[in-house]
Amino acid sequence: MEKKNIDWGNIGFSYMPTDYRYVANFKDGKWDDGELTTDSTVRISECAGVLQYAQTCFEGLKAYTTKDGKIVCFRPDLNASRMADSCRRLVMPVFPEEKFIEAVEKVVEANAAYVPPFGSGATLYIRPYMYGSNPVIGVKPADEYEFRIFVTPVGPYFKGGAKPITIRVSDVDRAAPHGTGNIKAGLNYAMSLYAITDAHAQGYDENMYLDPRTRTKVEETGGANFIFITKDGKFVTPKSDSILPSITRRSLMVVAEKYLGMPVEHREVYYDELKDFAECGLCGTAAVISPVGKVVNPATGEEICFPSGMDDMGPITKKLYDTLTGIQMGEIEAPEGWIKVIVE
Ligand SMILES: *Cc1c(COP(=O)(O)O)cnc(C)c1O
Repeated sequence: MEKKNIDWGNIGFSYMPTDYRYVANFKDGKWDDGELTTDSTVRISECAGVLQYAQTCFEGLKAYTTKDGKIVCFRPDLNASRMADSCRRLVMPVFPEEKFIEAVEKVVEANAAYVPPFGSGATLYIRPYMYGSNPVIGVKPADEYEFRIFVTPVGPYFKGGAKPITIRVSDVDRAAPHGTGNIKAGLNYAMSLYAITDAHAQGYDENMYLDPRTRTKVEETGGANFIFITKDGKFVTPKSDSILPSITRRSLMVVAEKYLGMPVEHREVYYDELKDFAECGLCGTAAVISPVGKVVNPATGEEICFPSGMDDMGPITKKLYDTLTGIQMGEIEAPEGWIKVIVE
């Protein structure tokens, strides 16, 4: 198959329209068959539920070209079930999980010419999303919904190697205390835009959000979960009902335990423990793992530096990163069911 003429090594993390996208509509209580379309625009009522009451959620996953030339994607079943959870919380109809995976396969296959080659450093980002599309003016869920998937080739999240970033403890909460932080929805992102813009203006790369109820426990950043490595080589990651269950984080827990033989602790992590960790990273589909060198708490003036991750990715973080990406690119054998082959 003829690839598009794209300078794969130099694309950034941004949107580039491709040839096809997938669209399905929910009306009169049921989903239609769904199809591919070349139309990249969406036309909806000025009074659509999504525009008035933010009834929308999304997912994010990637397709990769493996060393032996296959096109694969990573654990799409977990994206399907997480989107179903987001839909239920937002009183939206669930797009059937089997159909979700089929739709991902269809849209990736149709855009195979845009899947970056192995070793290029780029991947195909896949963005499924759904929104309430019919007019809603009284406060209630919409009756009609559109489910769509577009794909776009993206470069590495961090150009020129993964330099450790500096983050600050945010004085505002990412999500409401009554637990809306565990769904992947634009409403949570909208509420975090003020804090991230302010963090950047103050010279920080990201926000560390604490639990809204007690402000003593570490939750996550705007769009990534935390992982920590203790000085004696344990993998620690926060457990909370109000953070997004990251698929990268859940996969890294398995990589740490099964591939690297590390003890894994999934538990509440107190802010006061941070100073004792050796390495810290943010994990998610976009960046895989981004190392954190320093956490600043502007409220107290406290600065915490992670000893093995100030200049470069820490050694254990690097091993986790290399193993996970090795599995995704087909260089290391994957656990059963993690890799979905789309094009042989
Ligand atoms: C998407 C997302 C993550 C990362 O999840 P992955 O499944 O690893 O991509 C973490 N936190 C938030 C708030 C997210 O929206």
